[in-house]
Formats: sequence, structure tokens, C-alpha cells
Amino acid sequence: MGIDRPASLQDARPTPPRVPRANGDYDLAIVGAGAAGIAAARQVQAARPDLSVILLEASDRVGGRAWSVIPNQLAGAAVDLGCGWLHGARGNEWTRIAGELGLTVDRTPAPWSDGGRRLEFDREAERAARRAIDAFYARADNWDATQPDAPLSDLLEAGNPWNGRIGALGTYINGVELGEASIVDLGRYDPGPGPDWRVREGYGTLVARYAAPAPVALETAVTAIDHRNRDRIEVETGRGRLRARAVIVTVSTSVLAREAIRFDPPLPRKIEAASRLPLGVNNKVFLHVRDADDLPADTRAMGAQDRSATGSYLIRPFGRPIIEGYFGGQLARDLERAGGEAWLAFARDELARTLGSEIRDRLSVAAISAWASAPHIGGGYSYAKPGAADERAALAAPVDARLFFAGEACSTLKFGTAHGAFESGVAAASAAMSGLPPAAR
Ligand SMILES: Cc1cc2nc3c(=O)[nH]c(=O)nc-3n(C[C@H](O)[C@H](O)[C@H](O)COP(=O)(O)OP(=O)(O)OC[C@H]3O[C@@H](n4cnc5c(N)ncnc54)[C@H](O)[C@@H]3O)c2cc1C
Repeated sequence: MGIDRPASLQDARPTPPRVPRANGDYDLAIVGAGAAGIAAARQVQAARPDLSVILLEASDRVGGRAWSVIPNQLAGAAVDLGCGWLHGARGNEWTRIAGELGLTVDRTPAPWSDGGRRLEFDREAERAARRAIDAFYARADNWDATQPDAPLSDLLEAGNPWNGRIGALGTYINGVELGEASIVDLGRYDPGPGPDWRVREGYGTLVARYAAPAPVALETAVTAIDHRNRDRIEVETGRGRLRARAVIVTVSTSVLAREAIRFDPPLPRKIEAASRLPLGVNNKVFLHVRDADDLPADTRAMGAQDRSATGSYLIRPFGRPIIEGYFGGQLARDLERAGGEAWLAFARDELARTLGSEIRDRLSVAAISAWASAPHIGGGYSYAKPGAADERAALAAPVDARLFFAGEACSTLKFGTAHGAFESGVAAASAAMSGLPPAAR
């Protein structure tokens, strides 16, 4: 992965059974072992043990954008470089699986929800910001469906003092500035009922543990999918060629759009859909805090109130001596390019303004994500360009009832989430299984 990886980081992943060589014949090949691919594989293993299935993963680990690592400074505790929150937690399948696997679901209210803690120096101002943000999102939800789609920036009120703050939130939610993303798409977003919870051991740990029984060929990048033959799909990988009766593709829209996988016959409609649902950029920086006990636990501080190029900082998540900074859009892209020292300098300046300048010397980098340059992912999560909200369904549509597509970008309502990816993987697996009568062996 293209990640700035301090020597102190260790992966919190368990190792799934490795398949030494990816060749031969399978009923089902699944491309990509992120949340969607893993969910699809486990669904097939549970429902149709008669089918042979293989997960083909380009990188050297499972999980994709679900990735927990253990910085040395945290004495064995994991942090999530990718997904961290169980959004829509009560109906979220990962919450149920966390319970089944004996992991700890933490129900501390998220800082943006009722009962969540925010560092508010000016409470009336914070309430005014909340009202402006709520009104903005209500305008997106109530967008007149008879009007053509437009960029989210069209929903800003001229002169509203909270436009910068709304813009910052937009970069966290979409990974791009408001002018780039669709009103209709965001209006459809619905991660499901319930609060947002976390997994103490890490969301990435949860996804990787769930993958454990699934057969995975790691470091096996799929380069071509030949679906000309009606009986067998030929899958070309960096480590050999295999055949499958059906294939589920779960790679990110960035990977699809740059045609890292060549389809034969070509699938221009898929490439177009993926290109109109690009990945924004979202990144996290974890700063270790020396002598952190004076800081409030699980409390959010905004880096700035009046501009969109700012970080959102979660102080002492789970009470740990760490500050988790969240960045989106152009700022996240620029800081990723600039590297670790630039992150630290930027976050130090923002935190010194909020927490006092003496915090500066107590901060050091524990972990940083770099999702835009992660070679097999290429960004944070998908957003729809204005006019492209329906491309999610186009991307998810199967080809000839044996080539299926899944992944967060395929979810019309829960895009950008790990449980949306899960559900899309299960849906693709169910569709694939219905076209696979028991194999003659
Ligand atoms: C910073 C950040 C914070 C986030 N926070 C949250 C959150 O709090 N809650 C939430 O629900 N979601 C969150 N998300 C989003 C969530 O992580 C993703 O939506 C979800 O993990 C995507 O899963 P996926 O299976 O669709 O794709 P991926 O995780 O991208 O999986 C695709 C897999 O395919 C592999 N691959 C790519 N190309 C090939 C190839 N050619 N051959 C074989 N394999 C290939 C990749 O290596 C990858 O493992 C966050 C994401 C980021 C980046």
C-alpha cells in the first residue's frame, strides 16, 4: 500500500488461509478482498458449500479500505487508517458480526451525534453552526426531483457565515469540495437507522477476522477478464491464469476507471459509470500526545470554524493518548503529497490554536494514511459527479448473469461505507449463486 509507514506500525490483521497459486477451475472468482469481496465469499461459503470459490487480492493483506494498525506508542491498541465508525450501527451487519466474533462494540456517542462531545469555546456559535449545517442537508434531502441535478455548492446561501464549516463537512463526507459532488446522490445517502458506534479492536481487525475462513490468494492482481466464452470466464492474474463459471468484481471505481483490469469484450458502460463515480480523498493522521491525561476523552475539536480546508480532530479516542485528525478533499490530497512532516506541522498549528500552544511539543506522528496513492485503491470513497447519481445502479448491474459488480460505489443508499460494501457483496453473491446450479463433479 502506498502508505507512509513508520517502522513502529504493525498490522492488526489475522492471516486468512493463503492459496499458494491462483490457477485451475473455480465456480466463482471474486476480485478484491475488501469488505464487499469478503462478504461475498463468506455468503457463498455459508449458503453453497458445494461451490468452489476464491478471493483474488492484489495487495499483501485483506481488508482493502478497512485497515487497522497498531502504532508502538499505543501498547497494543489498534487504530483504523480507513473505516472506523459502524454507521447506522443497529442495522449494520458488521455490528452483528463483531458480536459473533467476540469483539467489543463501543457505544460512546459519536461527536457529531446527540450526546457526543465537542470542544466548544462558544456554545451559541456552535448551535448556530449546527442549524446552518442541518438546513444545508435538509435542502439536499428535499431537492426537487423534477429539477436537473446540480453541484452541492448550489445549496449554499450567499453570505452565510457558516459556509466554510459546511464546506469542511462536505470534504469529510464526499472527499471533494462541494462544487464537485451531486446533490441528488447525497440526498439519497442513508446509512440506516441507529447511532454510530466503533469496534475497540478496530474496524479493520473486524473485517480481516471475518475473512479468516475464506480462501484468499494475496499479491494476485487481476489484469484481464475474458468473458467471450459462454461456459468459462478466463481470469488473468499477475501469478497465473484461472477459469471461473462466474466472477464478482469488487475493486474501487478508481481501479476500474483507469482500466487496470482489461475486459474482453470491453465494458465501456462500466468504465463510464466508474469514471463518473470517482473516489474523493480522505485521510487520517494519528498524533501521539505525551502526558495526555489533561485532555478530554472522545471529544471533537474543529481545526477552524470558517474555512473548508481544515481538519476535524478527535481527542483521545477510547481515552487513549492520541489525537485522530480527519481530512478530506484537496487538503487531504495536498498533505498526502507533502508527506509526514507537513501533516504534523499543519495539525500542530491547528491544534495549538484550539488547545493552546503548549500542545505543540507533546505531539508526534503515530500513523498516517495515504489513500490517494494506495496503488490498488486510489482514494477515500466514491462520490457522484453532478448528474451521475444513477451511475451507481449502472455500475452494479450484472453482465450476462455471470459477471457481477459489488463494492461501496455500487450501493445507491449506503455508498462510501463498509456496510454498504458488505451488502453489495452479499447481493452480488446471491445473484451469482442463483445462476450456478450444483457443479457436476
Ligand atoms: C479514511 C477513510 C475513512 C473511512 N471511514 C469510514 C467509516 O467510518 N465508516 C464506514 O462505514 N466506512 C468508512 N470508510 C469507507 C469504507 O472503508 C469503504 O467504503 C469500504 O471499506 C470499501 O470496501 P470495498 O470492498 O468496496 O472496497 P476496497 O476496500 O477498496 O476493496 C477492494 C479490494 O480490491 C483490491 N484490488 C484492487 N485492484 C485489484 C486487482 N486488479 N486484482 C485484485 N484485487 C484488487 C484492493 O487491494 C482492495 O483490497 C472510510 C474510508 C476511508 C478511506
